[in-house]
Amino acid sequence: MQTRKSRTTGKARSNDSNDTAIDRVLHHLDQVKSIGTGKWQALCPAHDDRRPSLSIKATNDGTVLLKCWAGCGAAEIVSALGLSLGDLFPGDRRNLQDYGTGGPTRRSFDYQDALTGIAHEVTVARLIVEAVNRGDEVDTDTLDRLALAETRISDALSAAGGAQ
Ligand SMILES: [Zn+2]
Repeated sequence: MQTRKSRTTGKARSNDSNDTAIDRVLHHLDQVKSIGTGKWQALCPAHDDRRPSLSIKATNDGTVLLKCWAGCGAAEIVSALGLSLGDLFPGDRRNLQDYGTGGPTRRSFDYQDALTGIAHEVTVARLIVEAVNRGDEVDTDTLDRLALAETRISDALSAAGGAQ
């Protein structure tokens, strides 16, 4: 059992489907303060931060954006929290075949839903490319997440009756 305080094991992923990306991130930060709707500031875990210089923002689709005013990259920040870039993105529990069907119960193809999913996957890809461009270290979880984005877009295309 967990008897010691730990940033890297257990807690963050332990439960359940209500655990959103923003919850995961805020849970691990210190001196978190809400500064508006979907916006927080906190101590940056990636450098020796004395006053909160990390801005956290949750986008409408649930993606978490991190900005350290001292210049730390998102990959450094999440790795200091024992998380990976993939933890900044929502929806990873959704089954691939659900794309374009509005969820597991609906049958007919829903273009709006499929396009929403694709737009989200493209956002994921952009954030990862930005991290690479900044020279952040990109871990294998993140690369796996990028591969998942490609798979999901292909699956949406298949579900729409397109080419494999
Ligand atoms: Zn920093």
